[in-house]
Amino acid sequence: MTLQAANFEQKSAEELLRWSMDEYGADAGLASSFGVEDMVLIDMVAKLGGGPITLFTLDTGRLHEETYEIMERVRAAYGLEIKTYFPDRDQVERLVREKGFFSFRESVDNRKECCRIRKVEPLARALGELKAWVTGLRREQGITRTDIPKVAEDRDHPPLIKINPLADWTQEQIHAYIKKHDVPINALHKKNYPSIGCAPCTRPVERGEDVRAGRWWWENPEHKECGLHPTDR
Ligand code: SF4
Repeated sequence: MTLQAANFEQKSAEELLRWSMDEYGADAGLASSFGVEDMVLIDMVAKLGGGPITLFTLDTGRLHEETYEIMERVRAAYGLEIKTYFPDRDQVERLVREKGFFSFRESVDNRKECCRIRKVEPLARALGELKAWVTGLRREQGITRTDIPKVAEDRDHPPLIKINPLADWTQEQIHAYIKKHDVPINALHKKNYPSIGCAPCTRPVERGEDVRAGRWWWENPEHKECGLHPTDR
């Protein structure tokens, strides 16, 4: 199959999800951290019949209680199976033994080491089982995401195909969809957490702050990436 980006640009999010499932079946994975964008996609998948598509997540071992609660609501409300990838046990044991439980606060290198062990390596394992992955990335989310295509080969994980059905959605559209379809969301969103990652690395944001200001807030903005989307973080 030759990917012609222009052919996908006009397609709606639902059309792209339908196409993903028709083209790749369970070899397409919907990557979810159960943020608002992911919840929109999960709701759409459920309305399209629930699959075939693999819904997967990364459990870093440091998530908020509220994130586990929204995962359980997804399982109960939508009846979808969530494939969960955990970090390699030996690597986590070594990290904690040698550097303690909060090494990520000590330097950017330490923080990236923790993200690599708890997120990047499990993601690589997850993607190794897939031919395509669907994400909730949007162009509005930051200067490095302004030109993400809706469908393209993933430069970071070739020959995987990366599908971004919400690429051209605004934040207002996301919230309007959630309201209209009564989609469940992580309870932390109502406590001023627009972007939710691991518990010790996420704080609520103040009015007017960037939506990702609460992630790794002690670092300079140019360091704020965890390696999941290196070229369109
Ligand atoms: S976000 Fe924080 S706790 Fe989570 S993997 Fe990265 S450094 Fe570790």
